[in-house]
Amino acid sequence: MLLKRYLHEVNDHEVLIVGGGLAGLTAALDLAQRGKQVLVIEKNTYPNHKVCGEYVSNEVKPYLEHLGFSLSDFSLPEINTFQISTQKGRVIQIDLPLGGFGISRYALDYHLYMLAKKKGVVFQFDTVTNIQFMNDRFLVTLSTDKEILAKVVLGAFGKRSNLDVKLDRGFIKRKSQWLGIKCHYEYSGHPSNLVGLHNFPGGYGGLSEIEDGSLNFCSLVNYESFKKEKNITAFNKNVVSQNPLLREFLSNASPKFEKSISIAQISFEKKKAVENHILMCGDTAGLIHPLCGNGMAMAIHSAKLSVESVMNFLEKPTFLRADMENGYQQEWEKNFKNRLWMGRQLQTLMMHTNWFNFGMNTVANSRTVLRSLIRSTHGNPITI
Ligand SMILES: Cc1cc2nc3c(=O)[nH]c(=O)nc-3n(C[C@H](O)[C@H](O)[C@H](O)COP(=O)(O)OP(=O)(O)OC[C@H]3O[C@@H](n4cnc5c(N)ncnc54)[C@H](O)[C@@H]3O)c2cc1C
Repeated sequence: MLLKRYLHEVNDHEVLIVGGGLAGLTAALDLAQRGKQVLVIEKNTYPNHKVCGEYVSNEVKPYLEHLGFSLSDFSLPEINTFQISTQKGRVIQIDLPLGGFGISRYALDYHLYMLAKKKGVVFQFDTVTNIQFMNDRFLVTLSTDKEILAKVVLGAFGKRSNLDVKLDRGFIKRKSQWLGIKCHYEYSGHPSNLVGLHNFPGGYGGLSEIEDGSLNFCSLVNYESFKKEKNITAFNKNVVSQNPLLREFLSNASPKFEKSISIAQISFEKKKAVENHILMCGDTAGLIHPLCGNGMAMAIHSAKLSVESVMNFLEKPTFLRADMENGYQQEWEKNFKNRLWMGRQLQTLMMHTNWFNFGMNTVANSRTVLRSLIRSTHGNPITI
């Protein structure tokens, strides 16, 4: 009784989104465009840099344009060629069937945020510390102890969050040995239409251009390989530079950040798309191996799927919460399950250095293998 009265006293929202990264921002934009009130709680202010390869597949272009985000306003590098190199510098290059574009997360997230604000999305900058489901409502607690009620909650809090611990999600209990490192560089020797993927002992790095002509170098590194070196500078010099292409790049490029940024404990384990009645979007529902290069497209696509389920629930009296949850789960699996499976196989391969080197050599020796790998890890343009 007391709880019921309390729940009435707390501010009630129609849709609350936890996390304002790509998944959270696109879901917010879409819901606002469909006339819904949306509150986004994000722990960091914009703009900020994120560890990411910053190559976005053209899968998302029609949907972003539909949301009012006009890519042509930014004169972005158009990327249509993929290059892969082995540790010894053997190179293979192929056309990308769909292609993509380069844009920093600093710019992309910021401009999506500005557009969402313009469309009436409300942002609150705070960390969500708990999400409880009770009496057919969510009670969301913030670090400031403030509590907010919402009818629907979308979980878009990224690959690893305090909330994964709070919600007792399985993957968070197991350690992951993957580390992501990124820095922007000034460098003139890389064609703007090319995304490169270059192998070195214990990992690989992606090279591609972003909106201001800088080159983003973002690598995924096994911690075992990294910890033998003292820091990122030594790691780049002694390990990454074993690949002759990366050696040439690192010795002629000037870093634009004072220090590279990094994240640890990147997990590619299976996650659930619906947990505790929360619809999980983007990396919160599952992170695809960056080798497959389209996590951002998946995050944006999953946001669209979640919005469609939420709209049915909010608009159709006969469409129950369970229908929304089951519908989203099924759509998510239909669109992403196979791609993530493929990504996990690559991940297993990468755990074994010899297999990984063998795999990279096989891929770098065969355009057919490379094409089929790209086909099985990428989707079609998102239809509106
Ligand atoms: C090394 C590496 C390279 C990659 N390269 C590429 C690439 O080239 N192309 C590509 O398409 N994909 C790439 N990806 C994948 C891509 O970065 C992700 O799939 C994408 O960022 C997912 O977006 P998201 O919205 O799910 O998560 P995020 O963008 O991480 O957003 C999550 C947000 O939630 C917020 N948050 C977390 N916890 C809380 C909380 N408790 N309260 C409030 N806010 C919270 C965070 O601050 C963050 O802003 C790469 C990934 C890695 C690791």
